[in-house]
Amino acid sequence: MNGYITNEKDLRGEPMGSEVLSIILNSAENAFLQVGVFVGAVLLLFGYINYKQSGNFIRKIEESKKIQPILGALLGLTPGCGGAIFVMPLFVKGKVTFGTIIATLIATMGDSAFVIISTLPLEYILVSVISFIAAIITGYVVDYYHVGDKLLKNMNIITREEAHIINEKSDHNIINNESVEEFVHIGHDEGDEIDVILHHNAKGHQEHGTVAYEITHKGFIIYWGVLVIGLILGIMLLFQMDVNDLIIKDLGKIVGIGGTILSIILMIMSKKFIGDDTHEEAELKSISLKETIIHSASETAFVSTWVYLAYLIYEFGIFFLGKGNYGAGELIMTNLMTSAGLYAVLVGALIGLIPGCGPQVIFVALFTKGLVPFGALVANAISQDGDALFPLLVIDRKSSLWATIITTIPALIIGLIIYFIEMRMV
Ligand SMILES: [Zn+2]
Ligand SMILES: [Zn+2]
Repeated sequence: MNGYITNEKDLRGEPMGSEVLSIILNSAENAFLQVGVFVGAVLLLFGYINYKQSGNFIRKIEESKKIQPILGALLGLTPGCGGAIFVMPLFVKGKVTFGTIIATLIATMGDSAFVIISTLPLEYILVSVISFIAAIITGYVVDYYHVGDKLLKNMNIITREEAHIINEKSDHNIINNESVEEFVHIGHDEGDEIDVILHHNAKGHQEHGTVAYEITHKGFIIYWGVLVIGLILGIMLLFQMDVNDLIIKDLGKIVGIGGTILSIILMIMSKKFIGDDTHEEAELKSISLKETIIHSASETAFVSTWVYLAYLIYEFGIFFLGKGNYGAGELIMTNLMTSAGLYAVLVGALIGLIPGCGPQVIFVALFTKGLVPFGALVANAISQDGDALFPLLVIDRKSSLWATIITTIPALIIGLIIYFIEMRMV
């Protein structure tokens, strides 16, 4: 857990205002160079795999009834929300069981997966294995008690006629100037009830021709450029090199702070605040490689901004706890967190109730800073549903409510068990 932005010496004797400013700037530099750039690389890699695979995988899951919860859990495990987002409408269409939905959501870690893969890969593997087992068991239990039958029976889905879009032609030609023959839906068809809800009535893709669209769909090149330079610096940092003392003086500061500023701009322009992935965008990404690269930039910007927020919380927390003395603040913070470990597990599971990846990224980033016990990370990973809950939320509120509640139960049980094992080992 190195990489503290300010040390004691820097803070002493400086006026308050400049200390605050240095925390803001140093956190920006570190959030981007220590986490953001690696998140970008991993995110693009998995974006590409999703682009190649997600359609096939969804078809497979529809065909294999018996092992659906296992396949759902596998899809949920893939970092990000793309895979899991496609599973939700399948339940409404009667193609997968509710246990499959639960298994998928339990295994899903959303975008916070990228934060932990790129900072603590071993912990990531461990938490994935645990989530995977929890997902499969819970999925089959839910199916055994036929929880989904009742939900399906009481579901009241809006039809095309009710939505008054009978004559409206497909408005999915969002990809401009590109030779995409037709919009291929994943897990549902053009003009069906899912199309009505997820493409016409829910948050989909940005409006074509708007300023925000232009900035996100053209500015992504600049963003990836800065990210590549940042990645080189980030790797140098891993080897303990001073990136602010190279040929170009303060290069680390320039790229790090610049990268965070660009991330914030891109996040605002792509109008992503709590969640960052929608069904429509996930489908677009599976059709077009260019859209994959564009939206992976927006997603990286989203995650980087939330990581920056986590860094600010961490650094200001230490600063104020220690009344300006960094070392003292750090000690108080660590003691506070160790004594509150059990509550951290509860908090982790409860944060998981919130749909969307943003709040989860904060929690996981604090784990990478050593503030949260591993049991709490597991509780959060199991409980949280990433952005995958959003499509279900707009299709059928009741199902999504039950889904997010049910995933909290194994989160608490397993999170607490692991926490107590953890405490015994120390
Ligand atoms: Zn669709
Ligand atoms: Zn797009």
